[in-house]
Amino acid sequence: MKFVDEFRDHALAKTLAAKIRAEVRPETRYHVMEFCGGHTHAIFRYGIQDLLPANVRLIHGPGCPVCVLPVGRIDDAVALARDHGVILCTYGDMLRVPGSKRVSLLKAKAEGADVRMVYSSLDALKIARDNPDRQVVFFAIGFETTTPPTAVALQQARAADLKNFTVFCNHVLTPSAIANILESPEVRRLGTLPLDGFVGPAHVSAVIGSRPYEFFAEEYERPVVIAGFEPLDVMQAVLMLVRQLNEGRAEVENEYSRVVTREGNIKAQALVAEVFELRRTFEWRGLGLVPYSALAIKEAFAAWDAERRFAVPARSVPDNKACECGAILRGLKTPRDCKVFGTACTPENPLGSCMVSSEGACAAYYTYGRFRDAG
Ligand code: SF4
Repeated sequence: MKFVDEFRDHALAKTLAAKIRAEVRPETRYHVMEFCGGHTHAIFRYGIQDLLPANVRLIHGPGCPVCVLPVGRIDDAVALARDHGVILCTYGDMLRVPGSKRVSLLKAKAEGADVRMVYSSLDALKIARDNPDRQVVFFAIGFETTTPPTAVALQQARAADLKNFTVFCNHVLTPSAIANILESPEVRRLGTLPLDGFVGPAHVSAVIGSRPYEFFAEEYERPVVIAGFEPLDVMQAVLMLVRQLNEGRAEVENEYSRVVTREGNIKAQALVAEVFELRRTFEWRGLGLVPYSALAIKEAFAAWDAERRFAVPARSVPDNKACECGAILRGLKTPRDCKVFGTACTPENPLGSCMVSSEGACAAYYTYGRFRDAG
C-alpha cells in the first residue's frame, strides 16, 4: 500500500477484523497496551475497539508527552515566566495544562507574563534573535521524536554564542517508561493490571529503531509490535500480537517497516547524544520517579540550560485530588472512572493533563466516545 487512503480502507479493515476474530481463542483474554497517545487517538477516531472481539482489550498507556509531565514541572515553567521576566516559548497544548491551583501558562499570560506559543524549537530561537534584550526560554517537552530538534536549537545557540536563549529540558524516554509499567506493583504482584503485549510507538521508533524494545520483550516476556498510526496499522499490529500470544512467543515485530528500521535514525541519535545525557531520575505524572527516564543538557551546553541559569523551584506537587490522570496513565482506570469527566473537566476547561492534549485518553474519550464505555 502506498497511499494514506489505503490504510483507512473499509473493506480491508473488515477483512482484518474477521482475521482477528478467527484467530482469537474464545477462552483467552488478550490485554494489549498501546503505549502511544497517537495510537489512542487513532483507536477512538476510527472506532477500532468496536471492530475487535470482546476478549481483546486495548489499554491506554502513558505515551502522551503533555499528559506525563507532572504538576511540579508546569509550576516551574509558570515560575520562570512570572518571576524571571523571560519570554517563555512552548508548544500550544502545554499552555493549557493546569499547574497547582489550576494556574496554567495561559493564565499566567493573561496575568501579564510573556508566554508565547511556538511550532518548533527553531521558532523559539528566532524569537531570541529578534529580542536580544530579553531572556528567552524554550520549554521543551516530548519523547524521542521531539528531542533531535531541541538538540539542533541548542547547537545553533552555541554556534551563534546566543547569550539570551536557554532550554528548560523535559524530554523523556519511552523504553524506561514501558519497563517501569511492567515493574509496577499493579502488573507484577497484584495482578490488577494484566498486560499481555504492547503496540509499540511509531514516530519514537523511527528515531530509536526497534532494537531498544528487544531487551524488555526478552526480560519481561511480553511481545511488542511497532505500528503506524493509521487504523489498518493498529489492526494489523493487534493481529500480530494475537498470533504471538497464541503461539507463546514474546518478540519485537515491526508492522511499520515502511518507516522504522531496527537501528533507527543513527544521525538523529548521534545528535542527541552530543547534546543530552541521562538524568538519574525524573518524575512522571502517574508513574512517579522513574530512574534514567529523561534527558538533561550536557555540561558543554550548560550556558544554554534554563535550570542552571535560573533558580527553578523544582518542587514535587501532587495532582488535583479529583483527577484520575495518574491511574489512567498507568492503564489502571479509564476516563469513565473519573467523577468529573465531562462535567467539571472538559477540553475547554481541563482539570488534568489527559483532557488537554488531543492524544490524552480523556480528550479522546470526550471527542469520540463520550457516551459509550469503550474501555
Ligand atoms: S477527566 Fe479530567 S480530571 Fe478526570 S482524569 Fe481526565 S483529565 Fe483528570
